[in-house]
Amino acid sequence: MAERLTVRLGARSYWIHFDGDLTAYVRGEVDALISAGRKVAVVTDSNLAKAQGPALAAMFGDTPLFQLPPGEGAKNLESFGRILDFLAEQRMDRRSVLFAVGGGVVGDLTGYAAASYLRGIQYYQVPTTLLAMVDSSVGGKTGLNLRAGKNLVGAFHQPSGVFIATGLLGSLPAREFAAGMAEVIKYGLLGDAQLFAELESAPLTLASPNLSRVIHRCCEMKAEIVQADEHETAAEGGRALLNLGHTFGHAIEQVTGYGAYLHGEAVAIGLAAAARLSHKLGKVDATAVTRTEAVVVAHHLPIRLKTELAISDLMAAMGRDKKVRAGLPRFIVLESLGRTQTKGGLEPSIIETVWREIGAK
Ligand code: NAD
Repeated sequence: MAERLTVRLGARSYWIHFDGDLTAYVRGEVDALISAGRKVAVVTDSNLAKAQGPALAAMFGDTPLFQLPPGEGAKNLESFGRILDFLAEQRMDRRSVLFAVGGGVVGDLTGYAAASYLRGIQYYQVPTTLLAMVDSSVGGKTGLNLRAGKNLVGAFHQPSGVFIATGLLGSLPAREFAAGMAEVIKYGLLGDAQLFAELESAPLTLASPNLSRVIHRCCEMKAEIVQADEHETAAEGGRALLNLGHTFGHAIEQVTGYGAYLHGEAVAIGLAAAARLSHKLGKVDATAVTRTEAVVVAHHLPIRLKTELAISDLMAAMGRDKKVRAGLPRFIVLESLGRTQTKGGLEPSIIETVWREIGAK
């Protein structure tokens, strides 16, 4: 029996379903929609179509399917336009429903296409990466990257349901699993000291007996945070806390052209940077930095830049971050390993010092 968690958002509430295999559930949903006279279409990417062909066929039969090129480089306006053209060619109408089957790139783009096409249609998320299962498939943030910056275009558009079938992780490359762990570690750091300690005592792998429980816990935390601050408007704390490590991480992704680092790898370096920043501000002691870095490294993730990047470029990228208020980026800092807060108004020199320590020049 699949487990369920509700994301409570009034009229926009939905269920997250969890199990090893949810093929029958998804197929049941698709069949019910089609029986009700609604058109259904699927968006995925070409890697997933290859790696999980039989699962896709079992879930969706001959439902029209659109394949994006894989990876962060495809999260752009061109892909968005191609999805919209596909929906129009399929004559999808206002009652039609989309399924996003893939990682965060497919989920974010499909969600944004669903938010925009005919001013908004329904969509479901079927996440297939660890990152998408613990983070991007829940909460309704959708969008794409511009060359000028990460996720600069998008909309809040909640899915109608999320199907988390952990069996799909079986074909996920090890590097992608590790990238997803950056977000899992983030959840421990931002709000669950026990989860952080669990990751510290034994690195989480695909074979870990606690993997499903950890995924469930991350979704629970995300749901609680989103329920309290759906549109990230809280003056302090709130949904912005989910961006721990991301102000640094997004700058790394933007400066390197969305390809040299996986999103999760950039976030991993960002977590190390955020811990260093928190220490410099006197919020945590040096041990918190060492412990954060050790957990990141134990999950096969970087804590330093692979190549030297210019601090001036990274600072300029940070200045274009979505969280900028009155020209100044806001940071998420640690109060302890398991508690965070938002912090604005920092001197650029302190941020530059952090960049220098993690390998920028
Ligand atoms: P991704 O979507 O690029 O997927 C990673 C790679 O794994 C791709 O090459 C994909 O084809 C492949 N893949 C996916 N599932 C597979 C499977 N089961 N077997 C084999 N290969 C598989 O990357 P991601 O890490 O899932 O997502 C990163 C994106 O998510 C970023 O753009 C980030 O900004 C976004 N994000 C969004 C939110 C949100 O709230 N909307 C939160 C966090 C991250």
